Order: sequence, then structure tokens, then C-alpha cells
Amino acid sequence: MSATEPAVRDLLSEIQQLHEDLRLSEARFRDVIERNADAIVVIDVKGTIQFANQAANHLFGRPGAGLAGTAFGFPVVTGETAELDLVRDGEHLAVEMHVVESQWLGKPASIATLRNVTQRKAGEQHERDLIRSEAARATAEGLAGRSRFLAESTAVLSSSMDSARTLTDLARLSTAELADWVIIYAYDNGKLKRTDVVHADPSKAAQARKLRDFSVNHEAEGVARLIETRTPQRAERIDEAALQGMVKDEAQREIIRELGIASFMFVPMIARQKLIGAISFISADPNRLFQDEDVQLAVDLAARAALAVDNAKLYEEARKANQAKSELLAIISHDLRTPLNSILGYGQLLQMGIPEALSKASLEHVERMMISAKHQLYLIDELLHFARLDSNHEQVERHVLDVRTVLNEAADLIKPVAEAKQLELQVDLPDHPHNALTDPDKLRQILINLLGNAVRYTERGSIRLELTKSADGMVVIRVRDTGIGIAPEHLPRIFDPFWQVDHSQRTRGGGTGLGLAVVKQGVELLGGKVSARSTVGSGSVFQICIPGAA
Ligand code: ADP
Repeated sequence: MSATEPAVRDLLSEIQQLHEDLRLSEARFRDVIERNADAIVVIDVKGTIQFANQAANHLFGRPGAGLAGTAFGFPVVTGETAELDLVRDGEHLAVEMHVVESQWLGKPASIATLRNVTQRKAGEQHERDLIRSEAARATAEGLAGRSRFLAESTAVLSSSMDSARTLTDLARLSTAELADWVIIYAYDNGKLKRTDVVHADPSKAAQARKLRDFSVNHEAEGVARLIETRTPQRAERIDEAALQGMVKDEAQREIIRELGIASFMFVPMIARQKLIGAISFISADPNRLFQDEDVQLAVDLAARAALAVDNAKLYEEARKANQAKSELLAIISHDLRTPLNSILGYGQLLQMGIPEALSKASLEHVERMMISAKHQLYLIDELLHFARLDSNHEQVERHVLDVRTVLNEAADLIKPVAEAKQLELQVDLPDHPHNALTDPDKLRQILINLLGNAVRYTERGSIRLELTKSADGMVVIRVRDTGIGIAPEHLPRIFDPFWQVDHSQRTRGGGTGLGLAVVKQGVELLGGKVSARSTVGSGSVFQICIPGAA
């Protein structure tokens, strides 16, 4: 036996052992790979699968056959985790894939680990859907709350035509819903002035009022910015340092601290592109800090308030202007009437031959002068009448009377005018009394205006005056004519003061456009109603109803 024999044997058994170790290690490795829950595939550079574990075969829907030798079919990118959409038996699976570079049987290859994450993804999606629907519900609730609040505020704000009331209502509304306390500012002549400070807590009302008397610091950056840019501002969280920065005066700061301040919004009130004021909304609760959506709500509210205040101001101005106009009209017409009476008086004397008889030619001149003066008197009277009614200076004196009497009086006055135009005036009265508790002078004036119009706007045919009673005890009077009629588009405006279908008639010696306005106001003063129906070319019917009396 040579000396090398045992050494060779040792070497052989060592190699055998190594081989055995290797086999066991590979078996263990295979076992680990095969039993792995994740799918593992080895792909060569041509994209062909060289090895696939059981999980991979199962994932790809080929449990028995095996994937080795088939094309992988997905792009293989090393390093990144990719998401694949794998279709197995018609079902879509979400698969996460991670690829590393390696070798297989001595050649470069990629090892891909694939994990079925379909369930996890579905779970995540479900969670996202839940969150989204929860958020949608919260948003919907928020929106519903907001629009309810805004609708309510619009109703409250537009219910008053008094701008100070409107702003107090706004402050009350805001402290109920949006803020703990509210400062209202009016803007005039480049300056903001506090007009109201309202606190939700009644025990702080007196302190709040004190703040109103301090003047606004126009040097403060926020105030200057609001006036200049007219954009809303929000300070989400206000601490002592922020308060010191905002308000320079310690006495004011002290009141503000007592009222409480945690969060703050400062919003302009703009109407017809003009800054008319501003509102500060303040939350005293550190758990209630204003967010962007609060600013949006505050801006909406301020816009509605601005519109309401502006409307109230316009209404007030219009009311004052209307009253001033009516008073002026009353004064002017009264002053015009006085000299006219003297013209008419002296004219009558000349017609009577006083102080001496005039020639026929002179008398004709006087006659024309008198016609014009009388027409002018009629116009002035109508103006005076309207002005008195419009400025509510007209008194009503009611008596129980038989309306037929007033109708006869009015008809008698109009008869000569109708005859002059060869129009027939028919008076259709019942043969028993129709009583009303009413003002005979006003009623006569109303009828004269309606009958006068009927004659004025009728060239041929007849004028008819009718009297009846309605089932609910109203006295109904109608004036019918067979005249030119009124087009449907003009009917809604005929009762407006100074309104005429043909405006040129005023300058041609026609009416003033006040006759029907006087009729409407007069009838309303008597507690009645007037209406009109008309057909162009056939004629018109004006009807008035006034309360009857037993
Ligand atoms: P006016 O002094 O011009 O008659 P009114 O206020 O009495 O003013 O009437 C307003 C307008 O309504 C008139 O200008 C006329 O155009 C129209 N109108 C009124 N009554 C009649 C009528 N009976 N027939 C046709 N048009 C009428």
C-alpha cells in the first residue's frame, strides 16, 4: 500500500461529502424556493422562463404543466417594483413584481419575485372609497348647512328696508352660526367706522359696545389692505403676539382679550362694485379656528348683506326723492294756479263786455285765450291732485251715499264734451239705490278722468257708463268705449304716472299722462281696485270696484 492511498481515499470521501452537502443544500434551497408563498421565476435574456416555482405556476394558472420554457410576456425592469395586471382564467389579478439581476446555469438571467396583491388592493380601494364617501357626506352636510344658512340670511336681510336694522340682523345671524362675535364697519370717505359690535354671549354685550367707540386704526396693515385690495383676510390662529401686532392700543387689546379671540376673518362688503363696509368675524374658541371654507361663507354672507344694505339705502333715497318731488309739484302747481285764476277772471269780464264791449275779432282772440287758459288750469289741477295723492296729503271724507247720484253728476259734466265729438253717452244705471261708504268728490274725480279718457280716445261710436254689484257686495262701475284701444304690451303701464302710449300728445295739447295714475291712487284710497281690458281698434273697458254699504 502506497503512502498516497489513504490521502486519495480521504480526498474522495471529502469530495463525496461535499457533493452530498451540495445536494442537500440544493434540495433545501429548492424546497425553500418551491414552498415560498411568493412566485419566483428565472427569466433568461431572451425573456424565456428557465425556472418557475409552484407558486409561480399557480399564479399563472398552470399548476401542473409548469412555466419553464414559455415566454414570460412582461417587460423585465431590474430594481423597481412594478405592478402587473395578470389575467388568469378571465380574472384580473394585481401582481407586484420585483426583479434582480442574477445568473442561471452560468448565463446572465433575471430573477423575478411576484406577489398576488389583488386582495390587498381591493381592501385599500374599499378603504379609499369609504374615506371618499365619508368625506363626500361631510362635504354634502357642510354644503347643505351653508346653503340653509345663506338662504335664511338672505330672507332675513331682505325683509328690512332699513339699512341699520339689516346690519343688526346680519350680526345676530352670524353670531348664531358662524362666529362668537362680530364687528360691523361702515365705509365712508376713505375710512372705516365701527357701527356695531355684537357678542353671542349676552353677558359680554356691554364690553362689546365699548369697543365700538374706539376709532379704527387705519395704519394697521389689515385695514389698509382691505380698503385697497377689497379682498378677505383670515388669521387662522391668533396668539398674544399676533394680537399685539394687530392692535396697537392696550385698552382696546384688553377688551378684545375679554371678548375672546382665537381666530379671525375680515371681509369687505361690496355692492355695485363699491366698498360700503366690512365685517370682522371672530371665534373665541381655540377649538374652532376659521378655515378657507369659513372665509367663503363669510364672503357670501357679506355680499348678501352689502346688497341688502344698498337696496335699503336706494329705497330710502328713492322714497325721499319721491316725497320731495311731490311736495315740489304741489307747491309749483298751487303757485301756477293763482295767477291763472286772475287771467280767467279778467278774460270772463272781457267776454261779458266789461269794462266795454269788444269787437267780434277781439272777442275771438279772447275766446282762444280762454280755451288755452282753461286747458292749462285742467293740467295744473291734475298735477296738483296727483301731487297731493302721491305725497299722502289727500284726506278722505266718507259718507254713505247712493253711487248712482255721483255717476249722474259725472255723466252730466262729460256730456257736452262727448256731444262735441258726436259720441253717444249711454248711462246704464239700476233702478234701485247702490249704496257705498265713500268719498263722493274723489269718486266723481275718478269717473271724470275715466269718462274724459273714453271721449278723448274715441273718434266714433259710444261711451257707456254701467253700475252693478258683485256677489261679494262690491259696487262695480264700468266705463266702456268704442275707441282706439290699447295694445296688450302697453296695458301694464297705463296706470304709471306720466306714462302715455303716444308721448307727443302732451305737447299737442293732450293730457298729462296723470289721469289714470290719479284714478288708481284715488280708487286705492277708497279701498277699491281698478283694472282695464282693451282690444286695439275696438275699444276699452275700465272697471272699478269699491266697497259697498248696506
Ligand atoms: P292722459 O292724460 O295722457 O290721458 P292717462 O293717465 O289718463 O293720461 O292715460 C295714460 C295713457 O293711457 C294715455 O295717454 C293713453 O295712451 C292711454 N289711455 C287711457 N285711456 C284710454 C282709453 N280709454 N282708450 C285708449 N287709450 C287710453
